[in-house]
Amino acid sequence: QEDVYEKVARLMENSKKTVILTGAGISTESGIPDFRSPGTGLWEKMDPMEALSTKVLYNDPKKFYKSGFKILLSMKDAKPNKAHYILAQLEQDGFISCVITQNIDNLHQKAGSKKVYEVHGQTRTGSCTNCGEVVSIDLLEAKVSKGEIPPKCDKCNGVLRPDVVMFGDQMPEDFEKAWHEAEDSDLMIVIGSSLTVSPVNFLPGLSKHLVIINKSETPEDRRADAVIRESAGEALSKIVRYLKTVQ
Ligand code: NAD
Repeated sequence: QEDVYEKVARLMENSKKTVILTGAGISTESGIPDFRSPGTGLWEKMDPMEALSTKVLYNDPKKFYKSGFKILLSMKDAKPNKAHYILAQLEQDGFISCVITQNIDNLHQKAGSKKVYEVHGQTRTGSCTNCGEVVSIDLLEAKVSKGEIPPKCDKCNGVLRPDVVMFGDQMPEDFEKAWHEAEDSDLMIVIGSSLTVSPVNFLPGLSKHLVIINKSETPEDRRADAVIRESAGEALSKIVRYLKTVQ
């Protein structure tokens, strides 16, 4: 009798196009807390829907730069874990065509993934809300630590902000591209996402087949071809073993 890891490996081999959708759960083993894990999730300490909202960013920048911004900066030195590295290798070996991520921590790129859609933005840069000038997150941090709140653009004196999608923001261009990738796919593998953040939670419904690797239940489990409730790194390494034996 085939086990669930073997089943996922077979789905991957039979799929013409496989896309990955990741969430905060893939990075918890890199030391970045997710939002909703019981006991360790950020949600238990603060309300991210407030701390990382456009309302606070624009109306109460002092509060934003004391709370939400610190969460963003805390991701800068994190290192990829086994799950990120396995995904980079799977792309190189031709088993997956891209990674769509809700994460803003840059860990897929650090692990070597090439085609990454960052549907909630990223923490490498900030930009001017007036002229669009792009600056490094380090410049934003330096200005804030000098007490320049909100930080201002050196070119036009407009207000700078991080290039992260806050609650209340529009979705970036990468989301539209991710939508097309999902529509065009035979298989989507969701890894470490509670699938409760909209509109990203519509993406799994667009793919023909669905696999979910997540420690806790998600609203899409019932329609998935396979569900693995385990750590991302553990589950992926078991799946990959089956891919290797078949090759
Ligand atoms: P979420 O916190 O809502 O859900 C994470 C899920 O991952 C949970 O269901 C949890 O059970 C599961 N999980 C935790 N550790 C796991 C592991 N090692 N292996 C497998 N599963 C594991 O996260 P979400 O669905 O991504 O939505 C939260 C939003 O907040 C997203 O926009 C996300 O980008 C953002 N966020 C990002 C980061 C980051 O960039 N690392 C961190 C926190 C929040």
